[in-house]
Amino acid sequence: MSKLQIKIYPAPVLRKKSTIVDTIGEEEKRLARDMIDAMRVSNGVGLAAPQVGISKRIIVVEDLEGTKSSLVFINPKVVKKKGRSSFCEGCLSVPGITRDVMRPEFIVLEALNLDGDKIKIETGGFLARVVQHEIDHLDGILFIDRINFLKRKKIMKQVSKNICMEL
Ligand code: ZN
Repeated sequence: MSKLQIKIYPAPVLRKKSTIVDTIGEEEKRLARDMIDAMRVSNGVGLAAPQVGISKRIIVVEDLEGTKSSLVFINPKVVKKKGRSSFCEGCLSVPGITRDVMRPEFIVLEALNLDGDKIKIETGGFLARVVQHEIDHLDGILFIDRINFLKRKKIMKQVSKNICMEL
């Protein structure tokens, strides 16, 4: 069992803008570790702090193609983007829904690591995709916001129906 519980849409915290992390102390390090646990337990490939109810600019991602390890990015920011590609996305906070989403294919990412060092990564493909999805969470944006309006309306209906049934 993970210590953190994943918030499910339409939890209000998923719509809040997260704040910049000023100091990386024990609390932030523990949070990042617990987020990696929660991501793995849920078989996710990325997780943003708002998804566990904390509005701080911290994301964790599984780098399945590169380092093959879990990466932590603090105050992540896309400073350059190039190209476009479509990829089928899902989200631990919007269970049961997957859709093709268009996003830039290559990005340059700036962030801090857990030691507070500035890092700059140029990446494409899977990692770029996950990082952009997670950064969206920090701004209160969900992947379902990035798809066609009519399709979205249908999904929202499905989602609220599911919630009604579970109540
Ligand atoms: Zn997500």
